[in-house]
Amino acid sequence: MSDEIKVEDLLILGAGPAGLAAALYAARADLNPLVMTGTELGGQAALTDRIENYPGFPEGVGGAELSELFQKNAERFGARLEYDTATEVDLTKRPYTIKTYSNEFLAKSLIIAVGASPNKLKIPGEDQFRGKGISYCATCDGWFFKEKKVAVVGGGDSALEEGLFLTRYASSVTIIHRRDELRAGAILQKRAMKNEKISFIWDTVVTEVKGDQGVERLVLENVKDGKKSELEVDGFFIFIGHRPNTLLFKGQLEMDEKGYLVTDERMRTKLPGVFAAGEVNDPHYRQVITSAGMGAAAAIEATRLLESEEED
Ligand SMILES: Cc1cc2nc3c(=O)[nH]c(=O)nc-3n(C[C@H](O)[C@H](O)[C@H](O)COP(=O)(O)OP(=O)(O)OC[C@H]3O[C@@H](n4cnc5c(N)ncnc54)[C@H](O)[C@@H]3O)c2cc1C
Repeated sequence: MSDEIKVEDLLILGAGPAGLAAALYAARADLNPLVMTGTELGGQAALTDRIENYPGFPEGVGGAELSELFQKNAERFGARLEYDTATEVDLTKRPYTIKTYSNEFLAKSLIIAVGASPNKLKIPGEDQFRGKGISYCATCDGWFFKEKKVAVVGGGDSALEEGLFLTRYASSVTIIHRRDELRAGAILQKRAMKNEKISFIWDTVVTEVKGDQGVERLVLENVKDGKKSELEVDGFFIFIGHRPNTLLFKGQLEMDEKGYLVTDERMRTKLPGVFAAGEVNDPHYRQVITSAGMGAAAAIEATRLLESEEED
């Protein structure tokens, strides 16, 4: 029964850069935070091969390695990790209730750092071939495509980073983009253009994925002249942006039109003791460093709030 459950001072939902940085700061402030990891310990950062823009690592650092360092750093000061996923929250009264698959938690304060998930193309064949040739993570699945032909859809940093990573394994990487220019940063564009394994198909969308047991062909449509064609591939990687994982909070917390949580500049939602940090409330920057910074800020705010409530 809920009145027998220990009330946590601070529960952190999410163990990506934002959640783990929040855990570090909260643990050092003696809040004894409990971090619920969800299914992706380390978050999106752990999925990428190399991170070259997190300060302090002049040679770059593996995404999984950096995530592990974040975790160790937080645990060293007493942060506790709970390997579970929040399935339901009740924010109508404090302490707030968080239900998971196997448990129920009560918390005086909450830092929501559940991040974002990849967008889907929502085309025929996408769900059918997920894990059978379709992937949203080159670092996780690139290895399966040794000497195979793969296609990547997208034109941003992720699409190029992951496309470049795939050239380690694949015999060829075709990047399909719906416009005639890329959104990705200049350095990445240069690297991709120079790579002999990479080619581009411009002004084109993928309308269907075809195959039998796995991906065999992509149906393409040129957005300028409407011409259809097919591209034979063994693998198809989709990098067309992300959406915040905020369904859980619908109707309980304010969101913008894209589903990002709305906070003030101090990471506070409108509910007392409920903070948000990282990609869940950041449609603008979406980086490890900015997410971690927001996590730290949220933890400082939670500490100040709990301390002031204790004094009262
Ligand atoms: C392929 C790729 C490459 C990237 N490369 C770079 C790079 O080079 N440099 C850079 O700075 N950034 C990079 N990024 C972006 C960076 O990884 C993200 O900005 C950062 O991870 C966001 O951190 P976050 O903590 O806000 O969320 P996330 O990393 O998305 O973490 C979310 C956390 O919440 C948990 N969670 C979700 N739902 C629940 C739930 N219901 N209950 C409990 N927990 C839950 C997840 O398991 C996860 O632990 C890359 C991202 C991708 C996808």
